[in-house]
Amino acid sequence: MTVPEVDQSVAAEAAPAPVGGVLEGVQVSCWFGARKVLEGVDIKMDAGVVTALIGPSGCGKSTFLRTLNRMHELVPIATLAGSVLLDGHDIYGAGLRLTEVRRRIGMVFQKPNPFPAMTIADNVAAGLRLTGRKVRDRDDLVETSLRRAGLWNEVRNRLGAPAGGLSGGQQQRLCIARSLAVSPDVLLMDEPCSALDPTSTRRIEETILELKDQVTIVIVTHNMQQAQRVSQHCAFFLAAEDEPGRVIEQGPTEQIFSDPHDPRTADYVNGRF
Ligand code: ADP
Ligand code: MG
Repeated sequence: MTVPEVDQSVAAEAAPAPVGGVLEGVQVSCWFGARKVLEGVDIKMDAGVVTALIGPSGCGKSTFLRTLNRMHELVPIATLAGSVLLDGHDIYGAGLRLTEVRRRIGMVFQKPNPFPAMTIADNVAAGLRLTGRKVRDRDDLVETSLRRAGLWNEVRNRLGAPAGGLSGGQQQRLCIARSLAVSPDVLLMDEPCSALDPTSTRRIEETILELKDQVTIVIVTHNMQQAQRVSQHCAFFLAAEDEPGRVIEQGPTEQIFSDPHDPRTADYVNGRF
């Protein structure tokens, strides 16, 4: 008996494209020990939108980003208040397991952190083991993830080579591919280009824009041009001396840069800080 062959290309085309999740911080506050570093942050991070978090160093941008996928659970002195909703469900609630939160809300850091001795392909697939998911066609997933991260053409002939041999920019795109491989709804990026040269930075920005309709992206950046190039929503954080960080103003990125309503936002985006 012959088994009819399934046309994989048609099946792949028919599969619905991924759509990002809606992430919402509601009155998020954070303390480290007795010190309050973040006060009542409300930001809705919509699907199909890149949200940029801007503001001077130490105003709580990374702290806020880390509340969005429960990273603070690694810091014993951290205390949180408020809630974080993913498609309406509290990620700190009983209904969502930590492994599921981490799978659905990925994180990319300032310094690329691939496993340097592991192969490029194994790096991409590394998250699957952590989440306990099995994928029938691993090679296909590796290729798809690398394509989505804009790295496939550069590494297709050396998937078995150690990741440590890649350039910094390539390593960062590999980290993006590794995050994408577990099909996240949201990707959090904490200054993903700060350690990279301008060409690598532009490649990451292109990747962000290509991904934005499939994954909700939240990016912390100190680069005002970058915030304007990649984001559609922008939140300006500021911490007055001895005070916790707050969102001073947020809105469409164009408005924040062309018509800021708060003079402190105007000073910051115009480099008068
Ligand atoms: P940003 O990312 O905007 O530069 P952070 O969120 O990193 O700011 O830091 C906000 C404040 O919280 C800073 O004063 C910083 O020193 C403090 N902070 C951050 N992480 C910790 C921690 N693990 N323990 C204690 N204080 C911290
Ligand atoms: Mg930071």
